[in-house]
Order: sequence, then structure tokens, then C-alpha cells
Amino acid sequence: MRTAVISDIHANLEAFESVLDAIADLGVGEIFCLGDIVGYNANPNECVDIIRDRNIACVLGNHDACAAGLEEPDSFNPVAWNALLWTRETLSGVNKSFLLQLPREQALRDCFLFHGSLHDTNRYLADSYEARRNFRLLERLPGGPRIGFFGHTHVMIAFTDERGVVTTDRSHDLRLSPENRYLINPGSVGQPRDGDPRASFLVYDSDERRIAFHRRVYDIRASQDKIMRARLPTRLADRLAWGL
Ligand code: ZN
Repeated sequence: MRTAVISDIHANLEAFESVLDAIADLGVGEIFCLGDIVGYNANPNECVDIIRDRNIACVLGNHDACAAGLEEPDSFNPVAWNALLWTRETLSGVNKSFLLQLPREQALRDCFLFHGSLHDTNRYLADSYEARRNFRLLERLPGGPRIGFFGHTHVMIAFTDERGVVTTDRSHDLRLSPENRYLINPGSVGQPRDGDPRASFLVYDSDERRIAFHRRVYDIRASQDKIMRARLPTRLADRLAWGL
């Protein structure tokens, strides 16, 4: 069984549609989403509509929680704050209700999905220290899942726990050993931050036990034009071209 794993769409419809086309081209039918459907870019309703209409399994991200009014954006920088207020005004009631019912964490097949860190949507899982903490939490979950998929940092990365030793892989494909545990981030669809502006996602093949990371070009210019027309901060348009 092959499953595409996507995260941090952030209301970037052009990037999202391009990634959905890529997933269809690969013949992959199932998609898991790791949260932050909205925030930063200009098409929050359209992106939530797609997740809802296609019944894509999804967990709640920190921007989703703030946009739906579940949390206040106290830790947001001024640019993210500005975009959040715009998103709150723009999101339909139906889509806010949809975001409100998303689970923060979800066990699906042999995987466990969450947004930031286990039990903390807002915390960044970006180094071996935090990975070690999350491996311990993963182990204690019912069934002791061996694969955790997470987002939030917008950077493709895989942490491997091999008998207590944590190693890191960036953006190359992985063959998964049944002995080890893995924490894997597919990067961001709508606002990559690793210096590569292309949208990112991964495909997990549970039969072959493989992870393949993918990048996909999209019409960045169209997304930038929408940001400017919506009078969202210019920096949000600029950073799409840099991938930062
Ligand atoms: Zn995000």
C-alpha cells in the first residue's frame, strides 16, 4: 500500500493542486495530511474544501487552531499574526467548524500522525534532542507505533532511532527497518523553508517499507499575485520564491 504524506499547505492552492497532480501521476490513492491547511497564503477556503471533499485524513496544526478560534496566536511574529487575522476573517463558518473537529494526533495503519511534537502542536521537532524525546513518547503510545509523521518545521527530514542511537537524514529516500523507529517530516506543500522553493511531499510504501521524498514545481508567481491582491504582507510573497 502506498500513501502520500503532505503537510503545511498553508492556503497555497497552486502548490496544493500541483502536489495533488503529482500524487495522482504516481498512482497513489491515499493521502495523510499533517496539519496547517491554512495561514500565510491567500486560498484558505479552497484548500480546506479540497481536504474535506476528498476526505483526506488530517490532523490539526497550530495555524488551523488559531484560525478556527481554538487558540490565540500569542507566539506568532507580526507577519504570521497579520496573516492569521486575515485568515480568520476570510474562512467560512463551515470551514472553521471543519478545522475545529480535526484531531491533534491520529493513529492510522502502522503510522502515527501529529503536527509539531507529540502532545504539543506548537513545539518544533528540529534536532536530535527533541527527536529523542519524541521517540520515547512514540514508544509509549498504544501499540508502540514505529513510524511517526510530523510537520510544522517546513523542512524535509527523517530521524531514525536504532537501539537508542538517533541519526538524521535529509531529503534522500529511506529504506525502513522493522527493528527501528522513525520520525519523518515530508516538508511543506505551501511554504518550503529549506532553500528549495518547490513544494514537497513524500510517499510511504508499506509493502516495500520505503520512504520516497518528492519535490514539485508550481506556479509561484500566481500564488504571489494572490497574496498581493489580498493585501497580505509582501514578505509572504517574497519568501515563496526563496523557499525560506
Ligand atoms: Zn506550518
